Amino acid sequence: MNAPTPVAALAPTVKLLIGGKFVESKTTEWRNVVNPATQEVLARVPFATPEEIEAAVASAKQAFKTWRKTAIGTRARIFLKYQQLIRENMAELAALLTAEQGKTLPDAEGDVFRGLEVVEHAAGIGNLQLGELANNVANGVDTYTVLQPLGVCAGITPFNFPAMIPLWMFPMAIATGNTFILKPSEQDPMVTMRLCELALEAGIPAGVLNVVHGGEAAVNAICDHPDIKAVSFVGSTKVGTHVYQRASLAGKRVQCMMGAKNHAIVMPDANKEQSINAIVGASFGAAGQRCMAISVAVLVGEAQKWVPDFVAKAKALKLSAGTTPGTDLGPVISCAARERVEGLIERGVQEGATLELDGRKPNVPGFEKGNFVGPTVFSGVKPGMSIYDQEIFGPVLCIAAADDLEQAIEFINANPNGNGTAIFTQSGAAARMFQEDIDVGQVGINLPVPVPVPLFSFTGSRASKLGDLGPYGKQVVMFYTQTKTVTARWFDDSTLHHGVNTTISLK
Ligand code: NAD
Repeated sequence: MNAPTPVAALAPTVKLLIGGKFVESKTTEWRNVVNPATQEVLARVPFATPEEIEAAVASAKQAFKTWRKTAIGTRARIFLKYQQLIRENMAELAALLTAEQGKTLPDAEGDVFRGLEVVEHAAGIGNLQLGELANNVANGVDTYTVLQPLGVCAGITPFNFPAMIPLWMFPMAIATGNTFILKPSEQDPMVTMRLCELALEAGIPAGVLNVVHGGEAAVNAICDHPDIKAVSFVGSTKVGTHVYQRASLAGKRVQCMMGAKNHAIVMPDANKEQSINAIVGASFGAAGQRCMAISVAVLVGEAQKWVPDFVAKAKALKLSAGTTPGTDLGPVISCAARERVEGLIERGVQEGATLELDGRKPNVPGFEKGNFVGPTVFSGVKPGMSIYDQEIFGPVLCIAAADDLEQAIEFINANPNGNGTAIFTQSGAAARMFQEDIDVGQVGINLPVPVPVPLFSFTGSRASKLGDLGPYGKQVVMFYTQTKTVTARWFDDSTLHHGVNTTISLK
């Protein structure tokens, strides 16, 4: 995490959202929000004080008393309105996102759109939060379940999807009847705050959605707070593991979606042109800063001859600010991120991988101060090299080799991460074997970034996820609710009396 930095006094301040009001923080700790293409300071974000975090939780706790009893149709209609407002403001949201995060404008719209899909799903809450009923489980006895909200829930989000990931969290938590505390990434909180303004405009009542800003201290306060019942985290494996342990010990429900190293297998029978296009797009899009980016291509057999084709495609991509039309990839989020990626490229060279394309220190006319790293390709990559063992989170594609599909699957399953993967092949049998034997959450077949739509849930295995239930879709309804099982009998004067029953059986 980057420490708070000296701040530009004149830059506008990002507000906290407490009790339905956007308020100025009283903190003395601030950090700049910086345009990664230009280094322009766009705003300053506060690190909320313990009292402000306390006030946010208190307001959410108070609002829960009435929100939990609000009719399901009322809740649904707010999200119907909210999705309309997001659509109407799409261009403004995407522009804000590009300015503070760096991704291209079309990709920023994609970021908002993938979140919008979850809002649309939340508008169908009436069909999603249904219980079950079994009639006559014993004589005149019915058993049914109700899915009740938990109370105050919280979400902690990463910098790389500042629209989509907050929208993975608070709409479903609130639609199921909970109130919410959001802690956005301190690196790019502006589009998240605009989405919160629109949420209030859509009708979310005061106190139901609250936002606090900050870093480690704010996250720890959320993990420890006795009035917060559930925590949803998305971010790095290191921080996620800490959040999982700390919040679980404090008795909360926790889900953590974490780091990745996503492999794509390329079989020799794959459609060469389409497969290389797909993998290059998924590796370098968003400057490689997607948890579902393809960072390793495993070329099987004859496909190993395709390395020059990957390099040629990568070399042709246009690197510039996200606002420049025709840009394929923009800058990485910060100077520190750029230095880290450049350092890992250097280690890749030292540790014996072949640097096929070096994107360090590129020339980006008009944006000389930006945090740019161009597309970089290594071949001959093996486990034990830092570029393979670490999540680079930058525009670097590692190419590895395997003799056959079994070896490629074994290679992927031996990597600690299990977020996303893909296979490129024309063989149904190979694809099915891959689907069955691979130990990874999201699996793509001739699709490089298989992020599920909200009819399903985002998932992950091994080091990429902690907690049983995913952050949206069907699973999140279970995550944000407590199942209550009711077994009921209604006496009727004409019913035969059974006498005293001292057994466990229902009669
Ligand atoms: P990060 O872990 O640095 O930050 C995530 C959140 O944790 C932020 O809100 C941040 O303020 C907070 N935080 C940072 N350091 C902390 C600390 N020491 N203690 C407590 N909280 C702390 O992640 P990031 O750099 O913002 O995002 C990139 C990471 O997120 C990558 O590893 C990526 O793979 C992962 N990610 C995963 C998914 C997924 O669904 N699996 C999705 C998006 C991003």
